[in-house]
Amino acid sequence: MTERIVVGAALLDDGRLLAARRSAPAELAGRWELPGGKVEPGERPEDALVRELREELGVDAALVERIPGRWPLREPYVLQVWTARLLPGSAAPRPLEDHDALRWLPAAEVWDVDWLDQDVPAVRAAVTRLGAERPGT
Ligand code: C5P
Repeated sequence: MTERIVVGAALLDDGRLLAARRSAPAELAGRWELPGGKVEPGERPEDALVRELREELGVDAALVERIPGRWPLREPYVLQVWTARLLPGSAAPRPLEDHDALRWLPAAEVWDVDWLDQDVPAVRAAVTRLGAERPGT
């Protein structure tokens, strides 16, 4: 089967990482993830991720860098992750689709939420970028 890419964003702001709690499907509801979704045929992954962040959270975001790695989900999906930040003037994130709660997690709280297993390696990599993202450090 042809591989399909799912894109996720480690949205960073002021030394914190955004976590989103899934409201569906039942087997994933209540678990936390990096927001994102499926790349449409013919769409660039980077464009898909900016689109998903607008649809799911109502934000205008810019991608910063790809987190190296690709993590298999259920076939045929493979997860790829980018760090991202809110553009100046963006609305604050709201759970518009797929999620029923959002949390901005400082490094000390990142592991307080029950991340989807497949997101854990990307979250671990994103945490190492939290300090670097802080202005003045
Ligand atoms: O959000 P959406 O339903 O489009 O995601 C497609 C699939 O990718 C879902 O099955 C979900 O489990 C998975 N996914 C994931 N980690 C993310 C985003 C999506 O495993 N950060």
